[in-house]
Amino acid sequence: MIRQYELIDKIQKYNDKANVALINRAYVFSMKAHGNQKRASGEPYLTHPLEVASIMADMKMDDASICTALLHDTVEDTLATVEEIRELFGDEVAMLVDGVTKLSRITFNDKTVEQAENFRKLFLAMSKDIRVLLVKLSDRLHNMRTIGHMKKEASKQRVARETLDIFAPLADRIGLYAVKTELEEMAFEVLYPEEHANILARLDYVRLQDDIIPRICDELREVMTEHDIPCEVNGREKTTYSIYRKMVKKNLTFDQLTDIVAYRVIVKDVPTCYEVLGHIHNIYKAIPGRFKDYISNPKPNGYQSLHTSVIGPYANRIEIQIRTNEMHEVAENGIAAHWLYKQKEGKTISPSDERHPQYAWLRQLIEALQNTDDPQEFMENTKMDLFEDNVFVFSPKGDLISLPHGSTPLDFAYSIHSAVGHSCQSAKVNGRIVPLRTKLQNGDQVEIITAKNQRPSPGWREFVVSAKAKAAINRYLRSLEREEQERLGREMLEKAARRESYSYNEKDLNKCFEQLDVRSLEDLYAGIAQGRLFPRQVFDVLYPQQQEVNRTEQELANISTIRRRVDDDTVIGIDGLIAGMALHIGRCCNPLPGEPIVGIINTGRGVTIHAKNCRNLDQYDDEPDRWIPVKWNETALDNDKANKAFQARLRVSLAHVPGSLSSFSTAIFNVDANIVDLRIDNKNTDSFDIACDVEVQNLAHFERLMSALRNLSCVSAVERVVG
Ligand code: MN
Repeated sequence: MIRQYELIDKIQKYNDKANVALINRAYVFSMKAHGNQKRASGEPYLTHPLEVASIMADMKMDDASICTALLHDTVEDTLATVEEIRELFGDEVAMLVDGVTKLSRITFNDKTVEQAENFRKLFLAMSKDIRVLLVKLSDRLHNMRTIGHMKKEASKQRVARETLDIFAPLADRIGLYAVKTELEEMAFEVLYPEEHANILARLDYVRLQDDIIPRICDELREVMTEHDIPCEVNGREKTTYSIYRKMVKKNLTFDQLTDIVAYRVIVKDVPTCYEVLGHIHNIYKAIPGRFKDYISNPKPNGYQSLHTSVIGPYANRIEIQIRTNEMHEVAENGIAAHWLYKQKEGKTISPSDERHPQYAWLRQLIEALQNTDDPQEFMENTKMDLFEDNVFVFSPKGDLISLPHGSTPLDFAYSIHSAVGHSCQSAKVNGRIVPLRTKLQNGDQVEIITAKNQRPSPGWREFVVSAKAKAAINRYLRSLEREEQERLGREMLEKAARRESYSYNEKDLNKCFEQLDVRSLEDLYAGIAQGRLFPRQVFDVLYPQQQEVNRTEQELANISTIRRRVDDDTVIGIDGLIAGMALHIGRCCNPLPGEPIVGIINTGRGVTIHAKNCRNLDQYDDEPDRWIPVKWNETALDNDKANKAFQARLRVSLAHVPGSLSSFSTAIFNVDANIVDLRIDNKNTDSFDIACDVEVQNLAHFERLMSALRNLSCVSAVERVVG
């Protein structure tokens, strides 16, 4: 086990400005906090944080990371709090320790690759500072190194599985190849002890055979020398786990594997890589389907190389990887190396933070992670914002839930199920009751408390942010509105029945459905409340013998359902306008073609056309600039009769006799005009006044309509309404 002074020595070797006092304080704090706690090995617990700090020192990490490693289990496993740590070690260390603590609370249930990808996102989101993730990986590395001491076989299996499924892929994604390989090998041995032992034994056997690795390397070197290509050639055995994975994936036996050893040819630049490939394929027979160009298509973690498999010099299948020196360093040491390499070459790089230039690679890692599609670009990006749109939280069971940024416990509840959302009464975040409008933070654990009689409130709409929650709440509130309408409609019908001395049983109403074109009682009531149906229509169906007396009213009701809207923005046929200007017909005067008109410019809303005698024009007397002279273009209008109709409003006095409304509407139909809207303004025992909007072609058409109406015996007066 490493001792405190050895750790300090190690750190000072790469960082002569290390804050030794701070690190020592963290060491003492951790020692006191862990007290008499013991590891499974029986050693004092403190050995663990010390070893984790040592791994971080191997990565040449900064003071804050080392302190975090020393303190990483204090909040989770002892009485220490993040606040205490903030007071003693400052915001940076407190933030890092808090991050590591949150990660420790995750339980890993799902073992799928997608889940690993989720966790990668989570780790990133939580560690805008990737040091959190590095401490966590170092922690896991030490726990795996000491897994032999764990007593329960089931716990061993769980930890190893988690390591293989989650932590090794994570280490891989950020280019920590040494860490990834060590984690994999240790976990593989725990999970598949027989397979592990088997592969190890076979590897030993192969190695003993005739020194085949150096002999193949020599052969390859000779080929390159013949073509005057300076290069470095080596051969390296693959790890037991990668061999095992390949055997399983490709369903091969150990002897069928071609790539137990990877031979590498390392050259100076990319064109040479392809040249080397050409020579190798010339001399040795290539195995079809095994060539992969990771130079043109790098792996997501930045790995580049050409891979090919050939029948080699001793007639066995071998895998050859061809790469540049720079690619080789990246392959061995991760993206950190990529950055260091650029620096060594004297290329300019401008890390945004100059305080710790030796840790600039951390930023590069983050950048590489967020933008791994284009390796050319990944060194140039500077911002980590890929996951800023999301917040990642946990259910009480440890399931990871991704929500839009700014989400609240209510959004969380609705993300589970709309029924959970609807009945959400209160919420606990990290064990504490909080207001429902609280904004969730990354890593929060959220628990929803529901109540049977809880209902969504309109106020909820103001603070939920997820589309799912919004939609569910709106749907619920609309259904409430609908209930309200049904209640109102029922009341209206009951009142009308009392007024007219009808009495009916609610069941009787079923008989009306077909005739009134409704599907249910609720539909019927809602229709009445919305004014689509009149109580009169219901009574007419229920009591047909009474119908004749009230016929007129029913006609009126029928006609009023043929309302339709006219789009006044499509009007053409006016001269004097500037092309592209939006055009409105003044609703005050409803001018018709044939009448003198004038245009008024509205700021930002185009031109409104008024009749020259419109009273509303008075208000523009002082603004002559807004008046524009316009004229109907009769020819254009005549050519487009089918599409062009203009509205006019009529007031008609109609006798209150059966069939009068029918005659009225027939007369309008007969002159090819169209009723757009109609309502009763005034109703007496012997007559009623109707306001009616009609669509006509022009003034002459309208005048024809007027005289047709005047000719009806049931019409006592007709006038045009303007303004
Ligand atoms: Mn730990």
